[in-house]
Amino acid sequence: MAQYDLIVIGSGPGGYVCAIRAAQLGLKTAVVEKDKTFGGTCLNVGCIPSKALLHASELFEEAGHAFGKMGIGVGKPKLDLAAMMAFKDEGVDGNVKGVAFLFKKNKVDTYLGVGRVAAAGKVEVKGADGKTLTLETKNIVIASGSDVARLRGIDIDEKRIVSSTGALTLAKVPQKLLVVGAGVIGLELGSVWRRLGSEVVVVEFLDRILPGMDSEVCRQFQRILEKQGMIFKLASKVMAIDKSGSRLKASVEPAASGAVETIEADVALVAIGRVPFTEGLGLREAGVALDERGRIAVDAHYATNVRGIYAIGDVIAGPMLAHKAEDEGVAVAEVLAGQAGHVNYDVIPNVVYTYPEVASVGKSEDELKQAGVAYNVGKFPFTANGRAKVNMQTEGFVKILADAKTDRVLGVHIVGPDAGNMIAEAAVAMEFGGAAEDIARTCHAHPTLTEAVKEAALAVGKRAIHM
Ligand SMILES: Cc1cc2nc3c(=O)[nH]c(=O)nc-3n(C[C@H](O)[C@H](O)[C@H](O)COP(=O)(O)OP(=O)(O)OC[C@H]3O[C@@H](n4cnc5c(N)ncnc54)[C@H](O)[C@@H]3O)c2cc1C
Repeated sequence: MAQYDLIVIGSGPGGYVCAIRAAQLGLKTAVVEKDKTFGGTCLNVGCIPSKALLHASELFEEAGHAFGKMGIGVGKPKLDLAAMMAFKDEGVDGNVKGVAFLFKKNKVDTYLGVGRVAAAGKVEVKGADGKTLTLETKNIVIASGSDVARLRGIDIDEKRIVSSTGALTLAKVPQKLLVVGAGVIGLELGSVWRRLGSEVVVVEFLDRILPGMDSEVCRQFQRILEKQGMIFKLASKVMAIDKSGSRLKASVEPAASGAVETIEADVALVAIGRVPFTEGLGLREAGVALDERGRIAVDAHYATNVRGIYAIGDVIAGPMLAHKAEDEGVAVAEVLAGQAGHVNYDVIPNVVYTYPEVASVGKSEDELKQAGVAYNVGKFPFTANGRAKVNMQTEGFVKILADAKTDRVLGVHIVGPDAGNMIAEAAVAMEFGGAAEDIARTCHAHPTLTEAVKEAALAVGKRAIHM
């Protein structure tokens, strides 16, 4: 029987990063994965394929609308959806093979099959051939991730009523796409299909898009998406979807109840969130406690209530983000190797990869108000940034929230081109306990969009130069 220091169940960004870090630290490590390829939701049906389609569809839209202005005549771009999907699949393939390569390079053993915790120190792996193998280990890290959240009474068939997984593989552009849920996934995939030609209607239960993100940023972002042609029905709920006819008929009611309206669509994307995936792991039998929302309950060191069993990533509390899962993977591996692994949950960036992008880190203005924290705001619009102006990409702004007494940066929110890359600077500053003054006095290359971050930091002290 194989003996390990650590067995990780799940090879998503949480699991594979944990296994690699553990192997780097000298632990004899194995990973168990139930799918055919490594990389989990993120690489197979999440971050990577969605970003491939966002990238390709953004260029498609630019070719149709922006190239002419720059003197590039390409005519009306023609969509070859099958080729675009092949482009996406090739990107996914390269990434999942990359994980397999890293496992080999770091001497991480891999087992394909469903992993089950037979007891603390024992993992059973059931392969596709039905055969079961038992592995022994000092520690187990569960990184089983999450699954699509479903709406009661609405059956996801992944053809006409799809989850994000089906929305990444549609065989043709729907004439009309109904998106249920105005969270990150709904807005990203809604953007992809709108750019490729769909009429997109987004129905959201709350009275705002992107719940949890800074509301000023979201209001501006919604206006931008509306200008692009996306239609929003906020404070509304989809009660049922009738798929008996050639078109779907969704019954939509005001969230506070009222007259029901019917929205017809060719495809409906259910994007109301994700739920922790804990099926088939033998958790109940092993006595592993879940919290009130069905997530594996862990302490500050990712330990469950059962000695030797740990959990990380989407299956535990916290934002369901790949980089959060990765950082937890590193932290738990370091804890198991006797080091002081740690994740700073106050500085986890959050990005929406639409055009323009939305990115944030730290507290929103709404959160600061609610907590009664005194803060100063510095804002700088991209209309006043030279590079954004010359690129004709001037929508959006940078907003920095700094403590009124200490000037320490508490939150940074950006809606604008390349916001996802720019937020890294804010995260580094915050990780170092930096003040707005620190960002303001840091030399930023000209002409770059990042100068807007510097100007917003200057604006905290009411001394922006270009405004
Ligand atoms: C469409 C979409 C787009 C997204 N875009 C982004 C983005 O841009 N940025 C971002 O940060 N996040 C994004 N996410 C979220 C991100 O994918 C998740 O937060 C991340 O994958 C979580 O990592 P994880 O390792 O916890 O779990 P997962 O990636 O879900 O991996 C879990 C793995 O465990 C395996 N597993 C489960 N049970 C067993 C078992 N019993 N035995 C063996 N294997 C098992 C699963 O097969 C899976 O491979 C997106 C998600 C979706 C759906």
